Amino acid sequence: LAQLQRLVVTPAQIQADRITLDQAQLHYLGRVLRLKSGDRFIALDGQGKTWLVTLNHDHADILESLIVESELPIPITLAIALPKNGFDDVIRQVTELGVYKIIPIISDRTLLKPSNSKLDRWQKIIQEASEQSERAIVPIILEPIEWKHYLKSQDNNINHSFTTRLFCWERGDSPSLLQSLANHAPTIEIAIGPEGGWTEAEVKAAIAAGYQPISLGKRILRAVTADVAVMAIVAAYLES
Ligand code: SAM
Repeated sequence: LAQLQRLVVTPAQIQADRITLDQAQLHYLGRVLRLKSGDRFIALDGQGKTWLVTLNHDHADILESLIVESELPIPITLAIALPKNGFDDVIRQVTELGVYKIIPIISDRTLLKPSNSKLDRWQKIIQEASEQSERAIVPIILEPIEWKHYLKSQDNNINHSFTTRLFCWERGDSPSLLQSLANHAPTIEIAIGPEGGWTEAEVKAAIAAGYQPISLGKRILRAVTADVAVMAIVAAYLES
């Protein structure tokens, strides 16, 4: 099974024992992957369900459900201040490492104001990275949101016993990420700043909203390095 190609389908494409395929998927399976009728591949709905299927002309027949155990034990959300360059690589890599949800943040020092079409592109990158890394789910990415608005949107929702909220801050004498993961709540959310760092007002607002500042070590990491390092540390901790 490890050799089989993977394809994400939408839940609406699944009808009893068959999966309808759209033109783009048929092109990908037939022309790109060179699969023929009767060849098997793995289909997943991106929400945790996975099937072994066989291609049958313009659709796929489900042979059996598969149990895929590639997810981290708890959902990890990353609130990532958009870097000027390299965000495509960041979302690909944190997807490979097991992120559950990505919230692109526009902070005071964010230099890039993303266009609306970016979201489709990011979703495609995440889908491909999920297929490649044999994830059972496809992580969610939200529309970019300003940090102050994001904190406000959570005001009514803060439930500290349900979510551990951490905030990467390279200044101050904060505990390490690893230390802060001990006794974590059932979900974890971690915010990482932009190239220029968080402003003082943003740090204050985060702490007031219930985020705990944490350190990633004694060296200052580039924003894109910090994003990936955070996810690698959390995944290693949760799986050790
Ligand atoms: N320009 C800032 C400065 O020199 O103070 C550095 C910002 S750093 C390049 C980008 C982001 O990565 C920071 O906002 C922070 O969230 C995270 N980061 C980088 N190194 C870190 C560290 N050692 N501890 C905690 N967070 C770190």
